[in-house]
Amino acid sequence: MTVPKTADVGGWFRTADDEVALKSAPDWGPGTGGFGLASSDDELAAALEVLRRRRTMVLTGAGMSTGSGLPDYRGPDAVPRSPMLLSEFLGSDLSRRRYWARSTAGWRWFKQARPGLTHASLAALDGPLDVVGVVTQNVDRLHQSAGSSRVIDLHGRLDHVRCLSCSATLCRHWLQTRFLSLNPSFAARMAFLEEEAVSAPDGDAEVDRTEDFRYPACRACGGTLKPDVVFFGENTRRPIVDAAFAMLERADALLVLGSSLTVMSGLRFCRRAARDGKPIIIVNDGATRGDALATTRLHGRLEHVLSRWAAMLPA
Ligand SMILES: [Zn+2]
Repeated sequence: MTVPKTADVGGWFRTADDEVALKSAPDWGPGTGGFGLASSDDELAAALEVLRRRRTMVLTGAGMSTGSGLPDYRGPDAVPRSPMLLSEFLGSDLSRRRYWARSTAGWRWFKQARPGLTHASLAALDGPLDVVGVVTQNVDRLHQSAGSSRVIDLHGRLDHVRCLSCSATLCRHWLQTRFLSLNPSFAARMAFLEEEAVSAPDGDAEVDRTEDFRYPACRACGGTLKPDVVFFGENTRRPIVDAAFAMLERADALLVLGSSLTVMSGLRFCRRAARDGKPIIIVNDGATRGDALATTRLHGRLEHVLSRWAAMLPA
């Protein structure tokens, strides 16, 4: 099955508060290597045995959703690009116009994304394994769609928009209609722009001419609206981080799926688990920043690893 490339609408913000990298936005692109390796069935079985005897917290990253057509930053097919910084979004009207224009062009593709085999397999493991919960760095809500419960959206959710002044929350899909009515000439070109957003790997192309794009303010207070996701350079909200650490407290093991752990936002859970002597199993195609902390490092496509585990567990 060919999975369409989506626009960058979901891709900009899967990174968050890395206090080190924050000083300068990195050029995102394929990681430094380790792609294409595959762990053996024996290695997968040994790791599964560790998990079977423990309560497990799962931490997931963009690698979970690439099979659903949502691009990642560090995978083998990642397209180099710079995510928008929070300071850019807040400090520049032109940046906000550009952001919302691209978001409007790519929205349909993002909304169409469906859970893949990875999401379904993980949901199916919850039961045979004692999964205390899933902390995801993704903003696509595909774990919930696949039936996973107890999911913490560490970096927020792209289907919500929040007012920065009064904290009112809006449905992003409803806002799409507003964007189109405010920008009739843009709306008239939507079919073309949507195609462009898909075929241009970073969603740029024609959508870059965005100086005239109009976006609404909060109806309640006139404040600035922002997608309810953590931008690069923005801290994850404290209650959400606390809830994630509390979940890790209740777990005896940490399973990392499809994250290069490039940003501190995810890596810190590995550090905490390592500090507490809890086994850490990392499954990722490509090197991760947490490899030195892992007690077990598994390689290969997530789809393969998760479906092999499902087959190894008693029905
Ligand atoms: Zn408001």
